[in-house]
Amino acid sequence: KFTGNFFYDYMMGIEFNPRIGKWFDFKLFFNGRPGIVAWTLINLSYAAKQQELYGQVTNSMILVNVLQGIYVLDFFWNEAWYLKTIDICHDHFGWYLGWGDCVWLPYLYTLQGLYLVYHPVQLCTANAIGILMLGLIGYYIFRMTNHQKDLFRRTNGNCKIWGKKPEYIECSYMSVDGTKYYSKLMTSGFWGWARHFNYTGDLLGSLAYCLTCGFEHILPYFYIVYMTILLTHRCIRDEHRCFSKYGKDWKRYTAAVPYRLIPGIF
Ligand code: NDP
Repeated sequence: KFTGNFFYDYMMGIEFNPRIGKWFDFKLFFNGRPGIVAWTLINLSYAAKQQELYGQVTNSMILVNVLQGIYVLDFFWNEAWYLKTIDICHDHFGWYLGWGDCVWLPYLYTLQGLYLVYHPVQLCTANAIGILMLGLIGYYIFRMTNHQKDLFRRTNGNCKIWGKKPEYIECSYMSVDGTKYYSKLMTSGFWGWARHFNYTGDLLGSLAYCLTCGFEHILPYFYIVYMTILLTHRCIRDEHRCFSKYGKDWKRYTAAVPYRLIPGIF
């Protein structure tokens, strides 16, 4: 996909699915191997560094390792689901994905661990439990929302969401060659609460990671600020694409599910 703007093409990519042979897929490799594996290894290294410097690992460091470790394990456990995300299905492979996965992710997603090496925080039990619960609730919402859509799409709506047949809006769209296709947008389960409740779960989890560092410094909070910008921008980008794809059917869907991230607010 050439847009005519060299810088945009370089940044966002031209090739949709660049590969070497049958087995090496650039998007899957860069999204799903170096950065995300490094995330866990770097966090573990920070825990080891705390042990070396202070002779103990703080509960905040353990929480960061556990909560972020669950997120990474989930990625590998549900890798088939990951193939249906926007990164893989719609984005082209360029500097944005390559640099983001190999440089941005391992440096920036590990900021809490780095901070805790030099500013160790021992949380009181109540705070530690509160942060753990927030992280687990965020993870649960993230996983269940993504699972509900995956199940709904895989079974073409012939499934149960929260014990009931899912509600949905039938929609159609036209491909470039003029062929008409049909699809469904679910309006029940978490997808009836907000149009991107999976992002909301992700944000709750991200906030939990930051809270482990206490309130002495703003640096560890960079992550939640960044994730809020990333996911809000992604939400708007995705909705723009969906509106171009589904047209008036998308409008019916947004009328049925009026909020994006937080029911009643946004
Ligand atoms: P989604 O999984 O939400 O996918 C959006 C697509 O789903 C839409 O383009 C549309 O595609 C389809 N869709 C939208 N609404 C419905 C509906 N009601 N029913 C059925 N299908 C619908 O987005 P992402 O791929 O961005 O995110 C996946 C997960 O990855 C999220 O939980 C996100 O938080 C996480 N993530 C994490 C990042 C990180 O750095 N930690 C970065 C990016 C994402 P279609 O054209 O098929 O209709």
